[in-house]
Amino acid sequence: MSATPPRLIIVKVGGSVITRKDLEATPKLENMARIAGEISEVGERLILIHGAGSYGHPIAARYGLDQGFTGDRQLAGVAELKAKLAELSSLFLEALHRRGVAAYPLNPGSIITADKGRIARMGVGALRRLLNLGFTPVLHGDLVLDLTRGFSIVSGDQITSYLAVRLRPSIVVFGCDVDGVYTADPKRDRDARLIASLKAGDVETVSGLEGSAHGIRDVTGGFTGKLREAALIAGSGIPVAIVNLEVEGRLLKVIRGEEVKCTLITP
Ligand code: ADP
Repeated sequence: MSATPPRLIIVKVGGSVITRKDLEATPKLENMARIAGEISEVGERLILIHGAGSYGHPIAARYGLDQGFTGDRQLAGVAELKAKLAELSSLFLEALHRRGVAAYPLNPGSIITADKGRIARMGVGALRRLLNLGFTPVLHGDLVLDLTRGFSIVSGDQITSYLAVRLRPSIVVFGCDVDGVYTADPKRDRDARLIASLKAGDVETVSGLEGSAHGIRDVTGGFTGKLREAALIAGSGIPVAIVNLEVEGRLLKVIRGEEVKCTLITP
């Protein structure tokens, strides 16, 4: 009898979970610590991707970085963005290390080439080797070189879908600060209802997808962008869960296949 091969899980932790979106460059350290603790209990191979939240979007918007390279005045903005992202990432890495997770950061800006805002090249060999050695690779949404635009911003959500369709995890978890996908933005519409399950092909029919990331303009497409990436993953045959990571225990439960309040997107 052969042993069951270890599962691979991909978790995207939204910028809304680890940063205060209403306050520029303000971390939610207690969420980082708790999520790190839950990840330390998973006991499966896992890739972690996190968003930039208020460490990224305000700077990107100030310098028009989502437009690609338009002029020298953006260079200082890129440098500021890179410094802030490194700061956020190191806070999360520290939290992971303290909880006993062997986190290994990969700098997306150094290993991804995009074209017109979509990932064109990204070697996944290093990720496979890191997983085989027992590490938890950690990546984040980032500004990367772009063959057409000079540079572009690639969201953590896009990195997640790129990796998922190539590495075929058992499940992809998108963690954010609401319970899942609603019929409208639950922060703006009191009548919004949680959609417990969705088929990949039905994602585009969810209404009220405009406008997320309260207080700050989201340069990576906000919730609509996230759902499009989730639909790409689910459409390729991998289940996706959109889960509230402000709530203790939900990450572990959904990974273990236990019942939890969330939205499941299935192929
Ligand atoms: P993150 O930064 O965590 O990746 P975003 O801030 O981009 O995520 O998206 C999460 C936000 O999207 C939620 O806080 C919510 O207010 C907003 N949102 C907009 N439309 C919806 C919807 N139909 N269902 C759920 N959330 C939505």
